[in-house]
Amino acid sequence: MNKKLHIDWTRCDGRGLCTELLPAVLGRDDWGYPVVRHPRNGDGTNATIGPDEAQAARDAVKLCPKLALVLQA
Ligand code: SF4
Repeated sequence: MNKKLHIDWTRCDGRGLCTELLPAVLGRDDWGYPVVRHPRNGDGTNATIGPDEAQAARDAVKLCPKLALVLQA
């Protein structure tokens, strides 16, 4: 089942750890901030996470130094 990964831009500092863990889901802009490659419902703060990316998404949530990521059902 797919999940939603939400990026809280008010917290993110653009170090890009999440983009290294989820390269197929998140790219980087010129300043290193994550860019959702395929925005969920047109909302660039939300990415769809499939079963193959679920573990990497959980890791990204745990390791984000700014607690800027939330994984939702
Ligand atoms: S790991 Fe967190 S702080 Fe770093 S770029 Fe991703 S969302 Fe932003």
